[in-house]
Amino acid sequence: MIGRVHSIQSLGTVDGPGVRFVVFMQGCPLRCKCCHNPDTWDFEGGDEYTAQELVQKAKRYREYFGDEGGITLSGGEPLMQSEFCSEVFKLCHDEGINTCLDTSGVVLNDAVKQLLCHTDRVLLDLKYCDDDLYRQNVGCSIDAPLEFLEYLNEKGIPTTLRQVIIPSVNDDEQSVLMLKETVNRYPCVDKVELLPFKKICQVKYDDMDIPFPFSHLPEPSNSKMAELEEVINSKTVTSN
Ligand code: SF4
Repeated sequence: MIGRVHSIQSLGTVDGPGVRFVVFMQGCPLRCKCCHNPDTWDFEGGDEYTAQELVQKAKRYREYFGDEGGITLSGGEPLMQSEFCSEVFKLCHDEGINTCLDTSGVVLNDAVKQLLCHTDRVLLDLKYCDDDLYRQNVGCSIDAPLEFLEYLNEKGIPTTLRQVIIPSVNDDEQSVLMLKETVNRYPCVDKVELLPFKKICQVKYDDMDIPFPFSHLPEPSNSKMAELEEVINSKTVTSN
C-alpha cells in the first residue's frame, strides 16, 4: 500500500512523548484559518512511500526514542489515509515502536477505528470549544471531534488534547475554562497542551499566493500564555 507523505522530521520533540520520528501526511479536507501547514492540503502532492519504507526509515532512529519516544503520524490529516497509517502502526508495533497519532479527529469510520487499535496515544487538536468558532474558523461542526473524543474515551486510548491559542479568538479565560471542562469530562485525557498561535507560516501562504486568513492577528505574549496555563492547571489536569 502506498501513502502520500508531505515531509518527515527525524527527531521531533514536540509531537508526542519523548523523541519521535514525525511523519507529516499529505492532504487535509479542512481549511483552518490558523493553519500553519497549508502546503499539506493538496491530496495530490507529497512523496509516495510504502509503509515498509517509512518504518525502515523510522527504525534508523530507534536508539534515540528511549522509553517514551517512537513514531508520530501527523499532517495534513492522517485520518484521510487511515488504511496506510494502520499498516505503518502495525509494523511499528511488530518492531516494538510506540505509535502516536496527531489528528483533528474529524473522521470516525471503520478504517479509522482499525487505525486506533494500533495507536498508543492520540494528540487530538481540539481547535476550539465552541461550535460557532468551529464553523467560522475550521469549516465544520464541533460534533465530529467530540464524537471522536467520545470514542477514544470509550476505548481508553491515552489522549493529549491540544489547542492553539489565538488572540481575540480563544485567548480568554472563559474559553480556556471550557477546554478544561472538556478535559475533565473525558478520563482518557491525561494531558493538555496550549500552543501559542505562530505566524511564521505566512511565508508559505505567500509562496502559494493565497491569503493567510489570520495574518492580521498578533501572536500571544508569553505572559498571556502563562496566565492561561495557570487557568488550565489550576485543578485536575496537567500541561507541558
Ligand atoms: S486540520 Fe491541520 S492541516 Fe488541516 S487545515 Fe487544520 S491545521 Fe491545517
